[in-house]
Amino acid sequence: MGCGLDRFGGTDHIVFMAQLDLQIIPVTPFAQNCSLLYDKDSREAVLIDPGGEAERLQSVLKDLDVTLKEIWLTHGHLDHAGGAQELRDTFGVSVIGPHKDDQFWMDDIELHWANYGHAGMGRNVVPDRYLEDGDVLELAGVHFTVAHTPGHTPGHVVIYNQKMKIAFVGDVLFRGSIGRTDFPKSKHQDLLNSITQKLWPLGDDMRFIPGHGPMSSFGQERKDNAFVADHIIGTAGPNTTGVA
Ligand SMILES: [Zn+2]
Ligand SMILES: [Zn+2]
Repeated sequence: MGCGLDRFGGTDHIVFMAQLDLQIIPVTPFAQNCSLLYDKDSREAVLIDPGGEAERLQSVLKDLDVTLKEIWLTHGHLDHAGGAQELRDTFGVSVIGPHKDDQFWMDDIELHWANYGHAGMGRNVVPDRYLEDGDVLELAGVHFTVAHTPGHTPGHVVIYNQKMKIAFVGDVLFRGSIGRTDFPKSKHQDLLNSITQKLWPLGDDMRFIPGHGPMSSFGQERKDNAFVADHIIGTAGPNTTGVA
């Protein structure tokens, strides 16, 4: 959550990987970028952050003739995790991630949707497995690395593939902006550290899918992001601070 309610529906089909294909499906009134990642040959698929509209996601899976293998979550906010339980019930797949420190968010998804006036949009969920920094996820033989990136939420993770130059960053970083830190257990300095010490070292050419809005690259954000461009916070790369 954290963006406007103006974009609802539609899908973007992005082809940029040799073996895997990616479809971005904005879901919920928050227009959260759910990513459907699938292998072109085996048709095995994962959904990253199916925040809601589980029925619409099911019909996309069906239209593409792909088989859902797992659900991966970047963090526990309602618009990212709210559809996971229903999809798990339907397909019998595992929900993996985020880090355990986000469980308190996932315990209150139903309450929070009701508070936003959308009761029934999502359900509480307890993942089958929490993620830790350095964990590796796999889809059809392609490996994705997990980075624990607290700040927006304490248990937020980023999932990336260095070779394909693609990162799923949830609400850590956006085109021109960064995640909100006015929630319980959010920490602005942790978010800045996560961005400069966990994301920037992955390279300027690393492209990312944010939780909301258009794609970008880390290099682009280091150039002109209003919050974390190099000229604003200094080149706080991996070597300039003592924080691990
Ligand atoms: Zn969000
Ligand atoms: Zn969020």
